[in-house]
Amino acid sequence: MLDITKDFLIKNFNVNQEIIELSQKALEDVKDEFKKLDEIKEYNQMKVLSALQEERISEMHFTNSSGYGYGDIGRDALDRVYAKIFNTEAALVRPHFVNGTHAIGAALFGNLRPNDTMLSVCGSPYDTLHNIIGISGEENIGSLREYGVKYKQIELKNNKVDIELMKTTIKKDSSIKLVHIQRSTGYGWRNSLLVNEIKVIIEAVKEINPEVICFVDNCYGEFIQTIEPTDVGADLVAGSLIKNIGGGIAPTGGYIAGKESYVNQAAYRLTIPGIGGECGSTFGVMRSLFQGLFLAPHIAIEAVKGAIFCARIMELSGFEVLPKYNDERSDIIQAIKFNDKEKLIKFCKGIQKGSPVDSHVECEPWDMPGYTDQVIMAAGAFIQGSSIELSADAPIREPYIAYLQGGLTFEHAKTGILIALSKMM
Ligand SMILES: *Cc1c(COP(=O)(O)O)cnc(C)c1O
Repeated sequence: MLDITKDFLIKNFNVNQEIIELSQKALEDVKDEFKKLDEIKEYNQMKVLSALQEERISEMHFTNSSGYGYGDIGRDALDRVYAKIFNTEAALVRPHFVNGTHAIGAALFGNLRPNDTMLSVCGSPYDTLHNIIGISGEENIGSLREYGVKYKQIELKNNKVDIELMKTTIKKDSSIKLVHIQRSTGYGWRNSLLVNEIKVIIEAVKEINPEVICFVDNCYGEFIQTIEPTDVGADLVAGSLIKNIGGGIAPTGGYIAGKESYVNQAAYRLTIPGIGGECGSTFGVMRSLFQGLFLAPHIAIEAVKGAIFCARIMELSGFEVLPKYNDERSDIIQAIKFNDKEKLIKFCKGIQKGSPVDSHVECEPWDMPGYTDQVIMAAGAFIQGSSIELSADAPIREPYIAYLQGGLTFEHAKTGILIALSKMM
């Protein structure tokens, strides 16, 4: 680190000498991990480049359709580019998905019918899915349950999917139509599922009943490894464009990729039966969606480097972290256990303070729609709620774990983490 940089951290950001030294130690320790990530990044960059070239993307695809949006060639081409990247028959990439939850919801509602059973094999799914499934206690909001779709869940065993229990459950219950696999940790204290672990799960499902749809919630996972769940047999995946795959440029949206018939069913749910993905004007966002995708392999790795640096420096500061800095990763999330409500809140406030936008505002715990506990969210992002930008959030519940993710540049992630650590100490 240049002396001028150290001085800047001390004078402008109130970071003390001790934390700067910890930072240098942490950076030294993570060198090998960063090298491995650079290789993944290089491969994924080529994967995206090649998909764009094969689809002969040009200026004419940066469309700006209105009204029905019939024949929006940019929208249709981006679907094909995503399908190439995910190695699937089809994809549906739309700014009309309001978030990742919406894309996942469309995939589930589109493909499940009354008396079908959805089986979650990673324990409780991500908080915002509880209302979709109908396990939140909220009544009469049109959940899957209200439509007669049943739900079962298998708890993790030693933080791994319980494959044997999953197999017997599927064997015994022929109503199981869809298996829900969550790649990222969400608000859980576990490692993300590596794509090769997802492969083992899918093979076990298909061995018992090949008709079961293997659905993967791919949020936060894109471009962290060289393969995606669809490369190892996932029938359908969904995620958000304001996480990894939007590259920090996509202003909003979500995607679904997978077998054509399943993607079509999801499209009928996003719009309406008979219309599906053929309508939907794109208001001039196509350029951003293409450019964001192009940048995504780089940005996703910047973010994961921030997470690894955070893991190491927080560990050196005496906190328990998951994953550890040298664990293999499949998402961009870093969990830090504070065991202390005040420290947790201070850390999140510190991340807010280190943001390029809204650094002057204080974030506070609040009752967020879709979540059961109060949540504190530190995010000073160019795109509202974009968690590929540096952010930290935490449900206010014991043992007070913060989930840090994002960072459009590693330099920013690192600076933000140093500011947060200083504020907390
Ligand atoms: C972010 C996320 C979602 C969807 O969240 P949105 O905020 O609606 O985009 C779903 N599942 C997981 C695991 C996530 O990380």
